Amino acid sequence: MSVLVVNSGSSSVKFELVDPDSGDSIAAGLVEQIGELQGRVVLDYRGETIEKRREIADHAVGLAVAFEILAGAGVELGADVTAVGHRVVHGGDVFHEPTLIDEKVLQQISDLSSLAPLHNPPNVLGIEVARRQLPNVPHVAVFDTAFFHSLPAAASTYAIDREIAKKHHIRRYGFHGTSHQYVSLRAAEFLGREDLNQIVLHLGNGASASAIESGIPIDTSMGLTPLEGLVMGTRCGDIDPGVVMHLRRSADMDVDAIDELLNRRSGLAGLTGVNDFRELGKRIDDGDADAVLAYEVYIHRLRKYIGAYMLALGRLDAIIFTAGVGENAAGVRADALANLRGFGIEIDPERNMMRSKEARVVSTEGSAVTVLVIPTNEELAIARAAQKLARTTTGV
Ligand code: AMP
Repeated sequence: MSVLVVNSGSSSVKFELVDPDSGDSIAAGLVEQIGELQGRVVLDYRGETIEKRREIADHAVGLAVAFEILAGAGVELGADVTAVGHRVVHGGDVFHEPTLIDEKVLQQISDLSSLAPLHNPPNVLGIEVARRQLPNVPHVAVFDTAFFHSLPAAASTYAIDREIAKKHHIRRYGFHGTSHQYVSLRAAEFLGREDLNQIVLHLGNGASASAIESGIPIDTSMGLTPLEGLVMGTRCGDIDPGVVMHLRRSADMDVDAIDELLNRRSGLAGLTGVNDFRELGKRIDDGDADAVLAYEVYIHRLRKYIGAYMLALGRLDAIIFTAGVGENAAGVRADALANLRGFGIEIDPERNMMRSKEARVVSTEGSAVTVLVIPTNEELAIARAAQKLARTTTGV
């Protein structure tokens, strides 16, 4: 029994076959450089890596190629897969929970594309292709926004004309919800506390923070789109909206050009030319002043959110680092929480430097706030949500 998880993103398609009960990954693959003559397809299966290069015109071709490579490797999808879980970025104010996909739901996800033009269209394509390939199993949409749908109004409301906001569905939705929910639950389990007040820092290529009170999110850093909040690999995070008007008026940039600038040519990439944290680290070691500044901007923003969420929560029990940077970059963890002993937060340098793929504590014994590294696993969370819904609706 396994669940196929499809994450059809803006420029790549990730797919993984997961055993939702054991949590084991059976096969995992990636299609990238979509739209290029030399697209890349990789599959990890039974300890081997299969890699192919071929033209991948669009996401539909990309996912079809993913099914081909799975079949070529001998993965029996038809016999074994009981459900397909699809990561869908924007559920707007329509979807608050994992949802069984039918024609109506697919249309509604497509209709939400104006809120997430880079993400929902490839999500829809991924669903269409996967449903054609596996027509006899339930397909479930798991929304990045769902976990945050019940944010308090004070946190989800933008202070703009309320009629315009209502008409155009403008509010703070939050993203990376599957990850924030997964790691916050793991943290509560790990520490054996249901009443945990925690700050979750999901620091990957995209990055977001959330404040979670006894399992319920009360604030998060991303907003109408995944552009708001922390400094990210290629996205600017918080910015004065006046910058947009200024660019429109003074630099003669149209909306698409500004969108591209803020989403793809900003953040670490905008400040240094590279968005990968490992490369940034090398440049800092080489004394590159732009890289040093980019790192300082990144940490400054992160500390601002940590401070804000401490006050929002009132009592803080745990800080959780997750995703590529949060799990691996010990220096980021140390700098984000430096000199906070007065607030009861103290990193243990030795624990912090230890490498592991397991959940672990990196704060000192005496730290009032427990600092944890918890590896995220969005694919497993999606697989479990899909399996749960498939079971309740089909009895599988
Ligand atoms: P994600 O989006 O969660 O896959 O995270 C991607 C980010 O994690 C990239 O910026 C990587 O450079 C960063 N990353 C991955 N491994 C490491 C590492 N060992 N040290 C620092 N950053 C890392």
